[in-house]
Amino acid sequence: MVSYPLVLVGAGPANLALLVYLGEALSLRLEKLCVVLEAEERAHWHPGLCSTDTTLQISMLKDLVSLRDPTSYFTFINFLKRRDLLSQYTHLDTFQPSRELYSQYLGWVSEHFGSVIHYGTRVKSVSRSIVDDERSFRVSAESNRFGEEIYVCQNVVVAIGREPYLPPELRIDDPRVFHSAEFFSRLKRDDYPEDGTYVVVGAGQSAGEAARFLLARSPRSRVHVVSSGYLFRQVDDNPFVNDLYSNAMARDFFSLSRAERQRRLGDLRNTNYGVVDCAVLKELYRIGFDRKVMGLPGLSLHSYSNVKSVVPMANGLHVTIRALDGEESATIDNVNAVVAATGYADGRLKSILEGISVADGATDTVETDEHFEVKLSEGKGLFVVNHSRAAHGPTEGTMTALAERAQRIGDHLQFNIRGLTELRSTRRVTT
Ligand SMILES: Cc1cc2nc3c(=O)[nH]c(=O)nc-3n(C[C@H](O)[C@H](O)[C@H](O)COP(=O)(O)OP(=O)(O)OC[C@H]3O[C@@H](n4cnc5c(N)ncnc54)[C@H](O)[C@@H]3O)c2cc1C
Repeated sequence: MVSYPLVLVGAGPANLALLVYLGEALSLRLEKLCVVLEAEERAHWHPGLCSTDTTLQISMLKDLVSLRDPTSYFTFINFLKRRDLLSQYTHLDTFQPSRELYSQYLGWVSEHFGSVIHYGTRVKSVSRSIVDDERSFRVSAESNRFGEEIYVCQNVVVAIGREPYLPPELRIDDPRVFHSAEFFSRLKRDDYPEDGTYVVVGAGQSAGEAARFLLARSPRSRVHVVSSGYLFRQVDDNPFVNDLYSNAMARDFFSLSRAERQRRLGDLRNTNYGVVDCAVLKELYRIGFDRKVMGLPGLSLHSYSNVKSVVPMANGLHVTIRALDGEESATIDNVNAVVAATGYADGRLKSILEGISVADGATDTVETDEHFEVKLSEGKGLFVVNHSRAAHGPTEGTMTALAERAQRIGDHLQFNIRGLTELRSTRRVTT
């Protein structure tokens, strides 16, 4: 059993932004303050959907730190400079780097915190415990190298993202049916022919990107896209809407009544959910049109439809698609793979926090206050990030306000940490 003032669960962008704030802005000695438990063996960001062809959907100025402190060592621009990429990057004329490059930026930041991040360590539960009459948290983890581990701490920040969601009809034990979160890793690992037949389920950004990639790979590939809504719709990312994705708007959102928050979330859905960015849509449409011109098979859209069944056969999958009005509308044979671009769920977080008694009134996965602290029946010190859209609005679940949110959490955490002055360092975290 090891004891720390603070345990961070997950080393994704949210907790990396917090580490930068605690180490660089507050000058805290991180080795004494905290440990970060990360399930993956190394730093990478959405590896199954990361490539040089896909781009960040926000400005790179919304990196882990710039909006809070543009002079920080950990800006995306400084990363480019250190990697000798800055000058050439300016010639790309874009604020939206590829996901591959952004993932490398996050990896670069992670390297600076290597001494506190424990990779290959999956947290199984966070519960309350009493040690020497003091209330604390008990974090139970499974390490790939060391087996069962228990951490005792005064504060926990859980930022574990969401897990891929598969609808029941696609929960099939067959490697040819997989979630879009595994898209590139599956295509690399297994043998999926470039001129094959593919079914993509979903209508959001991942569905659009998967369909585009599969079509562009070969002029002979066939791609069917199935969605319960209209295919496709464009994301509303005009600058007025993007103003909503900011720390200031998240604060305003928090001050609204519950009913008003719900109304606004519904109203703003097309700014992030079930929608695709314009460049991807235009390219997809153009490829489909060019195929038609050349008399080649291409893109088939099945709007207002569901996948009824997927039956594995020796020569491929047999997929039946049903229109929502009840008529059976299509069967597709010899399908090489079904890609489920069917979104993400919160089951992992719920299971980790199962033993915690949360105060009444939770409307989302968890209810957090303005500092992202969970309202517990007893005590304090549990923070959950990116899981309370109902309280903080559209920015939750995105990276748009990470830098300033880290400050909000970090400043509040200071009140919870005993003996803080002894944890101050005279060195900057990068030196
Ligand atoms: C393909 C894709 C592209 C996206 N692009 C954008 C974008 O351009 N702009 C934007 O604002 N948002 C984007 N998002 C949303 C994006 O997921 C979030 O903005 C961001 O990654 C959330 O950061 P996070 O740290 O909260 O969670 P994650 O990035 O999900 O990180 C969570 C970390 O916790 C670890 N973890 C999980 N469970 C455990 C456990 N039990 N124990 C220990 N560690 C655990 C994971 O391995 C992971 O490293 C995208 C999402 C996807 C899927």
